[in-house]
Amino acid sequence: MSVDAPTSPHQMLDEGASREWRMCIGGERVEAADGRWTDVMSPSRRGTVLGRVPRAGAADVDRAVKAARAALPGWRALPATARQKALLAIAEDLYAHAEELAWLTASDTGNALRTQARPESQTLANLFRYFAGVATEVKGVVLPAGEDQLQYTIREPVGVVGAILPWNSPLMIAGMKIPAALAAGNTIVVKAAEDAPLTILRLAELCAPHLPAGVLNVLTGFGEDCGAALVAHPQVDKVSFTGSTEVGRIVGAVAGERLVPLSLELGGKSPSIVWPDSCDDATVEGVLTAMRFTRQGQSCTAGSRLFLHEDIYDDFLDRVVARLEQMVVGDPLDEATDMGALISQEQFDRVSSYVAEGKQRDDVTVALDGARQVPAELEGLYLGPTVFSRADNSWRLAQEEIFGPVMVVIPWRDEDEVLAMANDSSYGLAAFVWCHDLDRALTAAARIESGWVQVNQGGGQVVGQSYGGVKGSGIGREFSLEGMLEGFTHIKQINVKLSPRPAEPREATSGKTDVGAP
Ligand code: NAD
Repeated sequence: MSVDAPTSPHQMLDEGASREWRMCIGGERVEAADGRWTDVMSPSRRGTVLGRVPRAGAADVDRAVKAARAALPGWRALPATARQKALLAIAEDLYAHAEELAWLTASDTGNALRTQARPESQTLANLFRYFAGVATEVKGVVLPAGEDQLQYTIREPVGVVGAILPWNSPLMIAGMKIPAALAAGNTIVVKAAEDAPLTILRLAELCAPHLPAGVLNVLTGFGEDCGAALVAHPQVDKVSFTGSTEVGRIVGAVAGERLVPLSLELGGKSPSIVWPDSCDDATVEGVLTAMRFTRQGQSCTAGSRLFLHEDIYDDFLDRVVARLEQMVVGDPLDEATDMGALISQEQFDRVSSYVAEGKQRDDVTVALDGARQVPAELEGLYLGPTVFSRADNSWRLAQEEIFGPVMVVIPWRDEDEVLAMANDSSYGLAAFVWCHDLDRALTAAARIESGWVQVNQGGGQVVGQSYGGVKGSGIGREFSLEGMLEGFTHIKQINVKLSPRPAEPREATSGKTDVGAP
């Protein structure tokens, strides 16, 4: 059963309140076993219900995991080319429905259609296409162990994957996990984030015609019951979690107790360091992209600690502020909007409390107060870009992940000192180095403790790159072939004793020509 595609984003909003979505378990569209539902609220229109989704509990998790377990033998036994074909067919459908997915994700995440939602729905399709392409790369190796030995490895799927998603860019993160797990021969149970589940349910609908029942199962529910039950389920063979460091620790403890493989993509507080030779508009633009202001700063990789060299501090900051003042804060579905709404009242209050703390302090300056940039007529959870200047790296706002449009600017003079400050963080996800002297830039890149460093760009993420953090930002890599191999397969070693026989005399050739190969 498929939900009819809406013909405009506003039609989707108007009809949404009456729409009941279903989860996907074992190829069926289902409600929660105990009949519970939860409303999905619009971030951009306070009090507007976008639809309601089942609130799954442990019984639903059990059902989904059993469906995935039942589908596993058939799916893993397929030749890789068959899985490749299915994923490519899904990718084609995702491209065909990209605009609809963009509307939907703009509606439930609050991320602006033009700047965020459209690129995200494209990235989702790109990820399905990429992992389809590498599905045949799940290869083993042969060891040179002597002529009486055949020693080789094969990479096997880990089994049933339990995947947990956050709300900030649900389609992209689903795209990091689902096609990678499926390409390698696993089956999967995905738990969508409670605040932004709609696109993940729609994704399941679009995948369904191309996959055997039970290969992909999607649940909606809360972390404490649905998420926790998934991590703890004895038939889940691998946990792939993206979310906060705080919850990642809880998930990690449960997975550790069960001794199942785990990957954690967690939070960040990424440094963005500008050298004196880079006081130009292109760098300003890059720094703002790195900060992900167009996703309201709700990005794990946001370059939210901006380190400016003293020689260019005032000039660069003026340019940053001038550029941010031009940003349009508005309805995510409006094409003119650069920055949409924050996800939830809880998140809005959290970010607002950080902003309030910054405004009260005497030792920092408010270089830009985003509140002034929010049009009075907007009725959603909007906060404009806010910049605190002349901060100290030890300040709470420079150390904690705010996950909102708040940037803290810190002066520096000495290279060792700024790299020490960059590394003085419990996180290590991303970093941005802005320096036209590549020797310096690459030396800095080598010294920064993070899983990903970008030099002279803020948005260079390509499908297939290695992606993941160090320290409190996580364990493991996704988004890439090596991430798929390490995260979603394990190696089996097979050692065979051979009995080599003496060579037999050669027979005369039959004269036949082998036409089976080029
Ligand atoms: P969150 O940790 O609150 O929730 C993430 C998911 O975990 C949700 O689906 C939630 O329902 C579930 N969950 C909550 N408690 C659980 C439990 N006890 N057991 C199992 N699951 C549970 O994070 P969020 O607020 O949804 O997302 C924002 C956070 O995600 C930020 O910290 C951000 O940095 C991080 N994030 C990281 C990456 C990355 O790739 N490193 C990407 C996006 C977001």
